[in-house]
Amino acid sequence: MNTKELDKKYIMHTYGRYDVALKKGKGCTAYDEDGREYLDVSSGIGVNSLGYCDDGWVKAVTEQAGKIQHISNYFYSEQASELARTLCEKTHFTKVCFANSGAEANECAIKLARKYSFDKYGSQRNEIISLTDSFHGRTVTTLSATGQDNFHNYFFPFTEGFKYAEADNIDSVKALVTDKTCAVLIECIQGEGGVNILSKDFVKALRELCDEHDLSLIVDEVQTGIGRTGKLFCYENFDIEPDIITCAKGLGGGLPVGACLCNKKLEDVLQPSTHGSTFAANPVVCAGANYVLSVVADDEFLNEVAKKGEYLKDKLLKIDGVKSVRNLGLMVGIELKKADAHDIAAKCVENGLLIITAKSLLRMLPPLTITYEELDKAVEILDNTLHQED
Ligand SMILES: *Cc1c(COP(=O)(O)O)cnc(C)c1O
Repeated sequence: MNTKELDKKYIMHTYGRYDVALKKGKGCTAYDEDGREYLDVSSGIGVNSLGYCDDGWVKAVTEQAGKIQHISNYFYSEQASELARTLCEKTHFTKVCFANSGAEANECAIKLARKYSFDKYGSQRNEIISLTDSFHGRTVTTLSATGQDNFHNYFFPFTEGFKYAEADNIDSVKALVTDKTCAVLIECIQGEGGVNILSKDFVKALRELCDEHDLSLIVDEVQTGIGRTGKLFCYENFDIEPDIITCAKGLGGGLPVGACLCNKKLEDVLQPSTHGSTFAANPVVCAGANYVLSVVADDEFLNEVAKKGEYLKDKLLKIDGVKSVRNLGLMVGIELKKADAHDIAAKCVENGLLIITAKSLLRMLPPLTITYEELDKAVEILDNTLHQED
């Protein structure tokens, strides 16, 4: 049996797949098992921040794999310590807790916010307000945190204590704040929810509201973080400082790592035996993340990401069939006039462009290292594909 047949026979069918088996890649180019070439503007859903198999990244990861591949969290680890230092030195946060994925980083943030509130106000003050159309993960608790009804099915009972307010409507948040509320959880750009960019006024008003009631403001940066929007973290575009952020996808450059960062107020809340994970802070994935940050956490690099985003948006808007483009940096949602985004994405893949969707939009999350020529080529393939529709 070939790869596709084995997959169909032996892997649980939790994803609909495009009809492509990817075998290798370099930069923004992937190759399938038949040697066919694809331009990738999805980077494995924003994961391969430096593209496929960046030389420096491969070297950092393979060298670490040859030194020591895993250390239990009962021992100190150079790579994890360095990674935590960089994350804190580049932000206002003071401590990090590592995880293996975005959902797990969010679990940590939820536990952290709830324990802060428990320690100070007691067990009744535990509710978290998130937003409609948000996405926070697939564990039972992060499904609860996700403000979309279709995610609240089958797996009952879900974790209690989540309320959903409307994005960009501060009154709808205020209406849910009671003496039971402990935190507000948002994405500054809702990725899976359709690349919805929150308004700056709303985010700033949330910060004030949280200050007023001693609520932890948690920003889920799993998709928006690590340079994706032209800032190291997306909240920097909104002139606020969250109490807690989570990141994952782009952090490891292709290896599974998540992180929950918190400010001084919360840094001592989680103590031994309150949280942990066997694989979290693995030295090989941390070596990959350290290399990613050595490239991305640099003002010149980040400015270039923002410039590429503007360049791409201008080009996309010239395509007949594109209605609007929503982006910050290289997090890009494309609203089509008539054509169905899912059909177009599938046809783009057939035409050699790996692109994804978010709700009814096409979505691009290209490697941050993509070149202008590659952006041109991506736009050309999309244009041709939309044209071929007529
Ligand atoms: C992808 C995503 C998650 C979940 O991350 P996993 O690594 O798949 O668990 C959580 N929040 C946001 C905003 C995401 O985009």
